[in-house]
Amino acid sequence: MRFYSTNSPQNTVSAEQALFHSMPADKGLYMPTPLPVLGTDFFEKIADQSLADIGFEISKALFGDEISKANLETITHNALHFDTPVVELEPGQTGVLELFHGPSLAFKDVGARYMAALMSYYSARNDKEVNILVATSGDTGGAVAMGFHNVPGVRVSILYPTGRVSELQEKQLTTLGVNIQAFEVDGSFDDCQAIVKQAFVDPELNTHLSLSSANSINIFRLIPQGFYYVRAYGQVRHHGKPVVFSTPSGNFGNLSAGAMVQQMGLPVAHFVAATNLNQVVPSYLKTGVYSPKASVATISNAMDVGSPSNFVRLAHLYGDSYDRFKENVSGYFYDDDQTRAAMQQIYSQYSYVTCPHTAIGILGLQAYLSDSNHDYVGVALATAHPSKFKPLVEEVLGQPVEVPERLANLADRLKQSIQIPAQFEAFKDSFLQTVS
Ligand SMILES: *Cc1c(COP(=O)(O)O)cnc(C)c1O
Repeated sequence: MRFYSTNSPQNTVSAEQALFHSMPADKGLYMPTPLPVLGTDFFEKIADQSLADIGFEISKALFGDEISKANLETITHNALHFDTPVVELEPGQTGVLELFHGPSLAFKDVGARYMAALMSYYSARNDKEVNILVATSGDTGGAVAMGFHNVPGVRVSILYPTGRVSELQEKQLTTLGVNIQAFEVDGSFDDCQAIVKQAFVDPELNTHLSLSSANSINIFRLIPQGFYYVRAYGQVRHHGKPVVFSTPSGNFGNLSAGAMVQQMGLPVAHFVAATNLNQVVPSYLKTGVYSPKASVATISNAMDVGSPSNFVRLAHLYGDSYDRFKENVSGYFYDDDQTRAAMQQIYSQYSYVTCPHTAIGILGLQAYLSDSNHDYVGVALATAHPSKFKPLVEEVLGQPVEVPERLANLADRLKQSIQIPAQFEAFKDSFLQTVS
């Protein structure tokens, strides 16, 4: 498997290059080539397979002989040691695909953990420690930190804006220790990102150390996200109906992963792109004109993205054809009042508690199923556990929300961070001390 940039399909790089240097110099996005085709016999035998089993099968098809089967098996089973079950709301008609059974309680665990396991594999082979630098506004940092925790050969430095992440998010970033170091920056998320960007071009840092990024456009975060669409298909296939997926979206990585695995042969009848008021993709689907905007703040804040970084990838997967895009994807968007009302309605009708993002996914699914008038089985992706948004969910439902033990445990752990002013030199000095 090779990787080409969407801006220059004729030039390809190795998997290792795309993994550690996730941004092509021409500012495009990496895509795998060729995409393997998973035959019908593959889909017939997956009903009883775990997420890791399915991930292993697809990884073998992707990597071929590049990584031995034994190593691929270790990578997928270490990374994906939790399930992604479909819970049916209306049996045979609608269900939610729960993607929050991993350590940080959000779907981003899947991509972050698979990417981390691959980086560890390559760093051991090259006998060279890798330094990951990440700037986070909160959510991604947790999945990345937990994904890399205790992974041999990889050291992670996370920069976050002091006072601007939630208490639970801060615990995820600052209490793990071992190979995870948090830098608490006296500034904004943009300051954190600027420091990280400067580190990647700093001559001194780059001669001594192997620096890499774990940002969300890394293609190895998207590839494993395709696995759970396949796992979900395996779980609802016995209903004998075409399957529709509804994906609550912000940067559109999750939906791109679905489109990629559809291209590999997964029989997906249709996708729903469900968003909050940051509705650039639903608008594009309606008008054919793509116009990114500044983001607006909503209660489903992990989807507050005005210029989705994976739009190019998604369009590319549909041959940059508006008609093909529209044949495969429908857009729906909702404001905060509609989101709150949906959370209440889903709770009173099904006794099912959702986070605001998941509620938007279910709303989009219900709207599409009723607009299309087809007999589909619809699956909405549940992107985070409701307890990740505990104060909001409790306020909306008037019910206490339980925090799973694996996260509640963090509350008692000691925060450890290095506090720095929002200046590159200050970061560089203390970073060099931590790695020496
Ligand atoms: C990141 C995130 C999303 C958006 O996913 P994209 O891949 O960026 O579209 C949705 N819900 C939750 C809870 C998230 O953390």
